[in-house]
Amino acid sequence: MKTFSQAVFLAAAGRLDDLPPPGPPELAFAGRSNVGKSSAINALLGRKRLAYTSKTPGRTQTINFFELAGGARLVDFPGYGFARVPRPLRAQWEQLVGDYLGADRALVGVVVVMDARHPLTPLDRQLLGWLGDTRVLLLLTKADKLGRAELAAALKTVSAASRREALLFSSVTRQGVEECRGLLEQWLAAGRWNKKPPAKGM
Ligand code: GDP
Repeated sequence: MKTFSQAVFLAAAGRLDDLPPPGPPELAFAGRSNVGKSSAINALLGRKRLAYTSKTPGRTQTINFFELAGGARLVDFPGYGFARVPRPLRAQWEQLVGDYLGADRALVGVVVVMDARHPLTPLDRQLLGWLGDTRVLLLLTKADKLGRAELAAALKTVSAASRREALLFSSVTRQGVEECRGLLEQWLAAGRWNKKPPAKGM
């Protein structure tokens, strides 16, 4: 699909003042560090290293913006819940993402990326609570690491615990890539979701 084929890097924002001016529809991606969020974004955009996260805990966290064909934006939140993340960094994450979510932007939905082997960790659940009634897709990555029965069980666990839409995904086999693009295209066509910004306080 064309929307995702010619993305370019737009901006990296470490604080509210650095966010690019709002306007175009925005699709956000959130997830724990190391779940495969950057790989998933790269797979969706058909690029090898457009989204890339440094694995160094303690580095400056930024929200990265990519412009898609047609002007919509893909918004990559910093990863959360890094095992060794220092406390101030967690506070910084909350401040930055909270500022983004609280700002009056045209957010069409949030893709919450989770490892299919460990879906809905306490931090994921906290984030989902924080997102309120924002439209959400639960993207279960690294599906190639699980067998058929385990995948079915993962989907069952997720749908029993949350009424959000869920999709199995693998950046390695590209399972779910086209389906995910299709869903996100639908989100963009449906337009802005967050008439009211979600509540603060993860
Ligand atoms: P992020 O921190 O969430 O952005 O995670 P990355 O995209 O950097 O991926 C973390 C690690 O998981 C890397 O070693 C990737 O090669 C690996 N990985 C990411 N996606 C997949 C996937 O779909 N399947 C498998 N087998 N490995 C993956």
